Amino acid sequence: MGLIVQKFGGSSVANAQRVMNVAKIVTDTYKAGNDVVVVVSAQGDTTDDLIAKAKEINPMAPKREMDMLMSAGEQISIALLSMAIEKLGYPAISLLGWQAGFLTNSVYSSARIKKIDTSRIKNELDNKRIVVVAGFQGINKYDDVTTLGRGGSDTSAVAIAASLNADKCQIFTDVDGVYTADPRKVKNAKKLSEITYDEMLELATLGAQVLNNRSVEMAKKYNVELEVISSLNPIPGTMVKETAKMEKMLVRGVTKDADASRISVIGVNDVPGVAFKIFSKLAAKNINVDIILQSVGRDGTKDITFTVGVDNAAEAVKAVESLPFIGDAKVVRDDSVAKISVVGAGMETHPGTASTMFEALYNQDINIQMISTSEIKISILIDEKDADKAVAAVHEAFFGSE
Ligand code: ASP
Ligand code: MG
Repeated sequence: MGLIVQKFGGSSVANAQRVMNVAKIVTDTYKAGNDVVVVVSAQGDTTDDLIAKAKEINPMAPKREMDMLMSAGEQISIALLSMAIEKLGYPAISLLGWQAGFLTNSVYSSARIKKIDTSRIKNELDNKRIVVVAGFQGINKYDDVTTLGRGGSDTSAVAIAASLNADKCQIFTDVDGVYTADPRKVKNAKKLSEITYDEMLELATLGAQVLNNRSVEMAKKYNVELEVISSLNPIPGTMVKETAKMEKMLVRGVTKDADASRISVIGVNDVPGVAFKIFSKLAAKNINVDIILQSVGRDGTKDITFTVGVDNAAEAVKAVESLPFIGDAKVVRDDSVAKISVVGAGMETHPGTASTMFEALYNQDINIQMISTSEIKISILIDEKDADKAVAAVHEAFFGSE
């Protein structure tokens, strides 16, 4: 018995039957004697559909109005789920973000939660109701509706769990946990029973689409243990927590990010300050740079190569070309690259990780264009056409083939 926060993603509430399925999970938890707060996302592709509707009318729509529009998706879900719970004979109440006390800053479409006034939620729990909260939304100091950025319902759930000091925070989704690689692509991908916040953060950022990365950051900050679990298949999921059993694993997962773009600045003057000027210009444009490589100077010039998200590539090229000292240097963009990464807290203490990864690629005759490492991650950039083959080979090198 305790207080449990359960979050259900869009696919888990996509239609009437799925909503009834969620109501069953929630009421089973309640019947077992728990207080239950449920956080839900918009049904299925609702948020994408709402965005498409806006684009039809005004592709440059004010962000305030985008938030007003997008927040409607979750409003539908909370009402339907509450009706479903009532139908099963249990008391429920739906609350929009502002009713649940979510105060955010005013950065529309990617607002940050400042605090949650949980008095209303607590009141409803005291009255023995199942509280169904709209994820992804809040209100700012002007009483305007805000949203937390795509995938923001995970963050809503973690924030409520932290504020209420919940005993459990379960993130229900359409996969049954976090895997060592994308299970749709890699046949022998294994489900992890546990993973650390830092590893999950790397995996989330690198494109494993299980948890939103802000939610993992917040879970780490407030030490909220998360359980990633399937709403359709009632088996144990993956626990995300501070320390996790290694299960003889050096590496926790292999990921692919095909949305990278490589930009090379070829033949800039080999003098101090060039890198500083390039990357401060990109930072001023709010462009996130990932891997960076600088060649050794030769005949007074050098090359600087870096990667950015493909959405930022055009702007990045323009920004670099606008720098006065670029002169005769050439700026070349290549989108046909992919980043493959291995993540694992264990590699900090095991020297062979990089060579195992590189050997697997060598055996497949895959050329590495760039390399970057951190304490718990090694990323390489390769030709996009080799990406799936590379993930499979690297995965096999660390996890075997059976
Ligand atoms: N419905 C929002 C989205 O699709 C929030 C979420 O699903 O977490 O991004
Ligand atoms: Mg989601």
